Amino acid sequence: MTFAPAAADRLAELSTNLRRVQDRIGAACTAAGRVRNDVRLIVVTKFFPSADVEMLAQLGVADIGENKDQEASAKIAELPPEVRGLLHVHFIGQLQTNKAGSVAAYADTVHSVDRDKLVFALDRAATVFGRDIGVLVQVNLGASTGSGQETGAARGGIQPDGVARLANSIAASHHLFLRGLMGVAPQGADPDVAFRNLAKCAFALRADHPEATWISAGMSGDLESAVANGATHLRVGTAILGSRPPHG
Ligand SMILES: *Cc1c(COP(=O)(O)O)cnc(C)c1O
Repeated sequence: MTFAPAAADRLAELSTNLRRVQDRIGAACTAAGRVRNDVRLIVVTKFFPSADVEMLAQLGVADIGENKDQEASAKIAELPPEVRGLLHVHFIGQLQTNKAGSVAAYADTVHSVDRDKLVFALDRAATVFGRDIGVLVQVNLGASTGSGQETGAARGGIQPDGVARLANSIAASHHLFLRGLMGVAPQGADPDVAFRNLAKCAFALRADHPEATWISAGMSGDLESAVANGATHLRVGTAILGSRPPHG
């Protein structure tokens, strides 16, 4: 791939930001006594164009995250097949049941499953498409405070005492694979407390579902806390792509 001058600037910017975030993850792993390869970076490309996704792929990014179906489906359709083929697409936003069919067409993993109706709708769509989809149960890590809530998914999530039952329903489906748990630290709260609770839920879940090893936690502002508390997948947008408009 070659890029015009403006694109070359963007590529350099993304490369620098990516390296900074990789350094932060490396340092957080060292501080926590964890192996760097046990933590995966998902670059959240919501709001940004498919051209950025192509550049990220060129920089070696293999995992991208999106949180709105309409935007994500259009963006992924724009990618050249050889780029799409390199990427694992994570759907991380709140998901309406009537959008499950659309999401099941392109998402490799859905992080935001928090109710039975969604399990059934995703499984039905995955069966129609003949593809398997990884699924995480989104856990509500506490009532969010403040009104500037920007991460659509923060309001979603099942209460911790509902995780076991929903996990069983996913495990009993035909084309969904239970991968683990996802959580968003409530704004204004201590992320260490939130992510410690998520780790406890994940530990309990693995007693019944040893294959459910993923803990998706941590964003640009709190990835160190997530790594310290056992996260296996980080969802980082702003620190790599730049800031989005409010509620973007
Ligand atoms: C937008 C979003 C992120 C990324 O947040 P940043 O602060 O930009 O890193 C992570 N998780 C979810 C669910 C999101 O919606």
